[in-house]
Amino acid sequence: MGKLLIIGCGGVASVAIHKCCQNSQVFEEICIASRTKSKCDALKEKLEGTTNTKITTAQIDADNVPALIALIKEVKPDAVLNLALPYQDLHIMDACLATKVHYIDTANYEPEDTAKFEYKWQWAYRQQYEDAGITALLGSGFDPGVTSVFSAYALKHYFDEINYIDILDCNGGDHGYPFATNFNPEINIREVSAKGSYWEDGHWVETEPMEIKRVYQFPQVGEKDMYLLHHEEIESLALNIPGIKRIRFFMTFGQSYLTHLKCLENVGMTSIEPIMYEGKEIVPLQFLKAVLPDPASLGPRTKGKTNIGCIFTGKKDGQEKSIYIYNVCDHEACYKEVGSQAVAYTTGVPAMIGAMLVMQGAWQKPGVYNVEEFDPDPFMDALNQWGLPWVVEENPELVD
Ligand code: NDP
Repeated sequence: MGKLLIIGCGGVASVAIHKCCQNSQVFEEICIASRTKSKCDALKEKLEGTTNTKITTAQIDADNVPALIALIKEVKPDAVLNLALPYQDLHIMDACLATKVHYIDTANYEPEDTAKFEYKWQWAYRQQYEDAGITALLGSGFDPGVTSVFSAYALKHYFDEINYIDILDCNGGDHGYPFATNFNPEINIREVSAKGSYWEDGHWVETEPMEIKRVYQFPQVGEKDMYLLHHEEIESLALNIPGIKRIRFFMTFGQSYLTHLKCLENVGMTSIEPIMYEGKEIVPLQFLKAVLPDPASLGPRTKGKTNIGCIFTGKKDGQEKSIYIYNVCDHEACYKEVGSQAVAYTTGVPAMIGAMLVMQGAWQKPGVYNVEEFDPDPFMDALNQWGLPWVVEENPELVD
């Protein structure tokens, strides 16, 4: 069917690339381009011979817009899938605009010097993308991504109006290390050490980091502590789900993770303010990343399951009702299939699906869109087909 240019070759990209190669009918050709070309070459070597997808590789600094434009012109892809870091989003969007190629990502732009992630920078491209006749699909991972598609699906098939959404992200996996992060440590720690917030009655309510804790009994995983965090899909769902009164996001953390994080915070290791060290400027959080286990190395060690989903409460035919839509993913099964644990798997699969729907035209519309703005049905079908089956539970346990 077509050609996809994938930028980045880390944990999430590796899964998306495996999945593209399982789906050769759609992805006849992929080009993997990243900062460290040897990683792209190693993955190409692993996958070649197991797939009909033709794989090429390239070196790219995705912060260099002219270089990106030259690469896109050379590769001539139908779409670009951005699986580098949120800092690169705007540069890659600029290059796609200059070359009139569709754009897909999994995380919203974040400036490097302030841990503040919002959609405003990317939404500012709406008119230009519309004028250029190309689609930007934002947030096609799991959360954001699948959780947003679950919301659109619930609204389409189960409710006249959704009033409350609780997004619950539970990782019941154990990698055996006292402290490690399941995806890019810098992005992960910036996210969890920031203030929490939720949307209520038309405005944001801010909380201290980890201030709100709940305990929840997760299907197929068990009882876990979870904490309220700010999360990017709240911002777009608040606009796109009519009648919404409150949206909250909770993520589970074990006590060992929290104790280590507190200690690292207390000694200044999670700071993103540059400091001078032996005559060289370093960012403590980037140094911490360098000494922590590489998330990719967790794959073979991680046991247990993730359960990520949304509890919706709203009205249907005048009656109040609640449903819970979730996916359960097994770390060891993911590792066996694609050589990565479930956190990368649950993000890489929807990234492939988003790229597929854009390339096939089902999710093409000139402009900049979040995933919940498209018809959820083809995405929900593809989740079942490509390894992330979901469950709809009526009358679930609610979060107070
Ligand atoms: P990794 O750190 O494992 O991978 C990032 C990749 O991007 C690396 O290959 C890195 O290259 C490359 N890269 C970084 N900077 C540049 C640059 N300037 N130019 C070219 N390549 C670059 O991260 P993850 O795979 O864990 O995360 C990827 C993305 O997915 C992130 O944006 C993250 O926020 C998002 N994500 C989204 C989730 C969701 O559910 N929506 C969940 C988890 C992650 P190198 O190999 O040289 O370091």
